[in-house]
Amino acid sequence: MSTQEKINLIGLNRVAMREFLASIDEKPFRADQILKWIHHQGMTDFSTMTNISKVLRQKLEERTCIEAPSIAWEKASKDGTYKWLLSFADGNSVEMVFIPETSRGTLCVSSQVGCALDCKFCSTGKQGFSRNLSTAEIIGQVWLAVRRLSELGVTQKITNIVMMGMGEPLLNFDNVVPAMDLMMEDLAYGLSKHRVTLSTSGVIPAMEKLKEVSQAALAVSLHAPNDEIRSKIVPINKKYPIKQLIAVCRDYFKGQKQRVVMFEYVMLKGVNDQPEHARELAKLLSNVPCKLNLIPFNPFPLSEYECSSPEAITTFQSIIQKKKIHVTIRKTRGDDIDAACGQLIGQFEDRTRRNEKWLKKRGMPGLASIPVVVA
Ligand code: SAH
Ligand code: SF4
Repeated sequence: MSTQEKINLIGLNRVAMREFLASIDEKPFRADQILKWIHHQGMTDFSTMTNISKVLRQKLEERTCIEAPSIAWEKASKDGTYKWLLSFADGNSVEMVFIPETSRGTLCVSSQVGCALDCKFCSTGKQGFSRNLSTAEIIGQVWLAVRRLSELGVTQKITNIVMMGMGEPLLNFDNVVPAMDLMMEDLAYGLSKHRVTLSTSGVIPAMEKLKEVSQAALAVSLHAPNDEIRSKIVPINKKYPIKQLIAVCRDYFKGQKQRVVMFEYVMLKGVNDQPEHARELAKLLSNVPCKLNLIPFNPFPLSEYECSSPEAITTFQSIIQKKKIHVTIRKTRGDDIDAACGQLIGQFEDRTRRNEKWLKKRGMPGLASIPVVVA
């Protein structure tokens, strides 16, 4: 069996691992042992799995593999943030970021190669789209980060994982959900449901489905107080407008104590950052159990927006605060290595040709993609 035909065990959650073992006439409880070898011990070699019979190891060797992405390059920021470009077998690559803080370590994971949604302030969107990542490619990022950080001697462990890298996770639902299962699974990464967050631009039908099958925390990229502004900067708003989005968010954690939706709001100078926008936003969120996170816009080459001034951001915050909504300002990390929100671009062939069209519109038809400096 060639490597391509083998099942990559790294991408099987507990249910899928048990099903697979049953399909090769093995006892399902073996799943627990294999999961621990892969995710706790970081093993990729079946011969090291000493509590598993030789016969089963032989079967696994023949039919399966344990493969993570590989690191194409790594950048370290002076603030301790790391950014990696990760390559997959087909030559595509995505970016992943680790942000250490005093009491937590956040890993930002990608769900797609590029993104098919074209949010105007996001460099991933500008790069276009190639394909979904498989479950193995998503959880493989976590597997790799754990190993690499330990090699580097980084003492801060991964305590939180956010699906806020490249891509819209809810447009890759079937692969993202089992990967998040493994993030929360004791036999794998064992993070609590409060510490695994999916961020979406608001794919309403998938949000409805998600709340039935996953306990993960939810972040929603709102970015505007009304449809007029939101449709201009987050085009998917034309399909799933604000009123419907807010209604889903209001009920998302109904009956679950202390769980609220986190709204993200990128601060764009002169676009969505005026006091009247803050007042409109406070009204919109008044009956929604939520927190609001203001994200200073992170520029990228040829981006057409500017970040709001620090004064505009704090004025915006205080207007919202007065309405008793919990609102924070996100600290930008890793900006010396372009590791901040919306700056992740990876390397891949854009099947939508959006990047080419966008560069042409910006008067740069000779460039192959958004200019990036690779260390
Ligand atoms: N597709 C998902 C998750 C990935 S983007 C989503 O849109 O939610 C993660 C977060 O970064 C989102 O809130 C997104 O709107 C924000 N973001 C994108 N580009 C940004 C930029 N240039 N500056 C600041 N935040 C940005
Ligand atoms: Fe895609 Fe999210 Fe970027 Fe929008 S902000 S283009 S949904 S990655």
